[in-house]
Amino acid sequence: MRMIKTIGVLTSGGDAPGMNAAIRAVVRSATDRKCKVIGIRRGYWGLIESDFEPHHSRTVGGIINRGGTILRTVRCPEFKAKQYRERAYKNIMAAGLDALVVIGGNGSATAANVIHREMGLPVAVVPASIDNDVYGTEDTVGFDTAVNTAVEAVDKIRDTATSHERIFVVEVMGRHNGFIALEVALGCGAEAVLVPEIPYHLQQVCWTLMRGHKRGKFSSIIIMAEGAGASQQIVQQIKKITRLRVRLSVLGYIQRGGSPTAHSRLLAARLGNAAVRNIMAGYKSHLAGIMKGQIVTVPLQRVATKRKRIDRSIYTLTNQMAQ
Ligand code: ADP
Repeated sequence: MRMIKTIGVLTSGGDAPGMNAAIRAVVRSATDRKCKVIGIRRGYWGLIESDFEPHHSRTVGGIINRGGTILRTVRCPEFKAKQYRERAYKNIMAAGLDALVVIGGNGSATAANVIHREMGLPVAVVPASIDNDVYGTEDTVGFDTAVNTAVEAVDKIRDTATSHERIFVVEVMGRHNGFIALEVALGCGAEAVLVPEIPYHLQQVCWTLMRGHKRGKFSSIIIMAEGAGASQQIVQQIKKITRLRVRLSVLGYIQRGGSPTAHSRLLAARLGNAAVRNIMAGYKSHLAGIMKGQIVTVPLQRVATKRKRIDRSIYTLTNQMAQ
């Protein structure tokens, strides 16, 4: 087995709070084992452009509590083209990287799998995404922070909704899935939740709202994932059906930023450390994930080809609690 002496680390895809804590964990776990670390700036674009910088324990000091990523991140569609990846592989070899740790979401994991398949480089993925849509792990770095940020925002919106006796539709992130929407809805006591995975009838949602109104509810909150429909149109339709006052609030980018919660930092530390440990132990292409609170390793081939499903019991429970 080839000795691992130098590890590359990059952050890729959408930024997530706790990515810095994960970088710190990877760097310090590697240096602890006398391994050099090269940081790759701007995700896969940095591999193509050879945008490398050495890291060690001191360069990752004071970042555990910072949102975003000191390595920066970009979406890099060029990496899907073979000729750009060939350039990246040459740069990886020239820099003497023996392995690569990728901190990112679904797309980033797919790309890491391609790198391993094409050049044989050992790769490890630390799942980091506010969306929590990575197969093989029940949680991703940043998800808890995003949910908490959104719940806090919705609590504030609820004050206005109650004072003015209004219905608020709150759009949260999730273009393809309802992971954030479901947890936010249950966490802030929403009257309804709309997610892309579960078909809904707006008429029925409106009946629920009107029943609540008749029973003396002063306000109603509907949480919808971005991918559950066009929020402006939904607001107009609810207005028309219920004849009540309805407002829209799109939470947007505030859900991405901010200081990571303790939970996100802990997860980053554990999974960042596991990724390095596993590479040293000879794993070639894996995701360091968490299942039932235990750290697990999942082959990247599975991560890249399978889709994680939402927990429908959260949907049912949200509706049950909305009396
Ligand atoms: P995330 O990792 O947050 O899901 P993206 O889906 O944007 O974010 O993926 C991050 C990056 O991974 C992309 O910008 C691209 O560089 C790379 N990538 C994604 N899918 C592939 C693929 N099929 N082949 C090669 N590279 C890919």
